[in-house]
Amino acid sequence: MTQKFDRIVVVGGGSAGWMTAMALVTGLKGRVNVEVVESEEIGIVGVGEATFPSIRHYNQLVGIDETEFLRATNGTYKLGIRFCDWLEVGRDYFHTFGHFGNLFGSQTLWAQYRRMRLAEPLGLQCVPTVMAMQGRFALPSEQDQFKYAYHFDAVRYAAFLRQLAMQRGARHTQGRIVDVVRRADGGVAAVQLDDGRRVEGDIFVDCSGFRSLLLGGALQEPFVDFSHWLPVDGAWACPTERVGEELAPYTQATALEGGWAWRIPLQNRTGHGHVFASRFIDPERAREQLLARLDGKPVAEPRLLRFTTGHRQRFWVNNVIAIGLSSGFLEPLESTSIYLIQDGISRLMTMLTAGRPLDENDRALFNDGSVRRFARIRDFIILHYCLTRRRDSELWRHVATMELPETLAFRMELWRRYGVLHEYDEEGFDATSWLAIHAGMEHWPERDDPVFAEIPPERALQALQGRRNAIAASVARMPLHHQMLGQVLR
Ligand SMILES: Cc1cc2nc3c(=O)[nH]c(=O)nc-3n(C[C@H](O)[C@H](O)[C@H](O)COP(=O)(O)OP(=O)(O)OC[C@H]3O[C@@H](n4cnc5c(N)ncnc54)[C@H](O)[C@@H]3O)c2cc1C
Repeated sequence: MTQKFDRIVVVGGGSAGWMTAMALVTGLKGRVNVEVVESEEIGIVGVGEATFPSIRHYNQLVGIDETEFLRATNGTYKLGIRFCDWLEVGRDYFHTFGHFGNLFGSQTLWAQYRRMRLAEPLGLQCVPTVMAMQGRFALPSEQDQFKYAYHFDAVRYAAFLRQLAMQRGARHTQGRIVDVVRRADGGVAAVQLDDGRRVEGDIFVDCSGFRSLLLGGALQEPFVDFSHWLPVDGAWACPTERVGEELAPYTQATALEGGWAWRIPLQNRTGHGHVFASRFIDPERAREQLLARLDGKPVAEPRLLRFTTGHRQRFWVNNVIAIGLSSGFLEPLESTSIYLIQDGISRLMTMLTAGRPLDENDRALFNDGSVRRFARIRDFIILHYCLTRRRDSELWRHVATMELPETLAFRMELWRRYGVLHEYDEEGFDATSWLAIHAGMEHWPERDDPVFAEIPPERALQALQGRRNAIAASVARMPLHHQMLGQVLR
């Protein structure tokens, strides 16, 4: 059965809905009608302030100017994440979007670092990590190449995209969907609004958030539950006023008794939240813990969000494609939701621009790729938890001893035995990211590779120290994050 797509209805106007609409009107210019249906009364989830470097790629593809974007969204630069108290209370490490590189030509640097048993963090060998430690930011250069992302106000981002997408021809329909009209083949023919209007379409992109109105609701697609491995199921979010001039160029994620707390600096305020597992901590206690941590005056009441980690079994069924929270959620530890939205959009655009009606193969490829992408990112997030040495609460005892997904257990075994950073297809994070977590959590291979011992230890040490000093000196000349932002936004 093939499916035409002249009329595309996007259900939902959060980040997922407007990112999708913007990509459609840009990539299929004038060839399709795009209509976004959203309910102002229901609103959007509005969290989702930390991103992944791929957001830059998305913005470039749809023609968004970086400075305009930073202005419109109160955005700041993000070099990565600082993880506090994950290994043990009082210990921290960075996962930034940069490489550790090689030594002596093609030798992996980490292996020499490990061989020397240095007490200083491996991160000192990585330019963006040192930038993050020093609170500095400069754009990548020929000499210092690394990726970066942003922190931004998700509500403003959706509004910014809406304005641009409408300028490019997207239709915007306000109204609460109260019913879904089905086709004889089980697909969706139209959505029915509370004032009696009907919005008909050929395909429907379900961006309705956790409600999953079409895929989970009307089509009843089962949910694949990951909460055994990712047990967090709630979050308190509470923004505060910005305190002081300085801005951290990173997200901070601090492990707590029953979950972890985020700290996300924007230009005008700081996002705070506590993601918790209600199996292990009472939500009220989680709220109190968040309030006790705030480092500024709250600008809103703490807001509670509930979720289950996992995804719909299939992401695309009949003529409904789910993108965003309606398709699944993996918890925000590595800021991957907007990346997954982008991933869904890019898969869809590849198929829509192929110049023929959609068929079963498109659906199968979309579903297969999306399921694997979720599984890869799930494994990466679990890695942050399962390597902990903490045993001070039920949550940490659970994650330290739980049975792991086979795919993760296999790659951890390869790392431990042979020092191999195995990669599957559809990875969300490359080997350097995996290395950053292994190193930060002091999880090293059982033995040093004898090949690396051929370099005399003094030479290896000298090379490591030389590189570390050169990076520190070069970063010290960069502007502080708020200075850089000030220059850009001037
Ligand atoms: C605690 C928490 C922290 C997060 N942190 C991050 C992060 O740091 N980084 C990141 O990338 N992601 C993060 N996310 C995820 C991120 O918030 C979402 O991926 C992103 O906001 C996209 O949401 P969405 O558009 O899918 O859903 P929503 O924003 O919820 O939008 C749903 C839309 O559907 C509409 N809708 C629903 N029902 C109806 C109806 N009946 N009729 C009409 N319209 C309807 C709503 O009005 C709304 O417009 C976080 C999520 C949570 C819960």
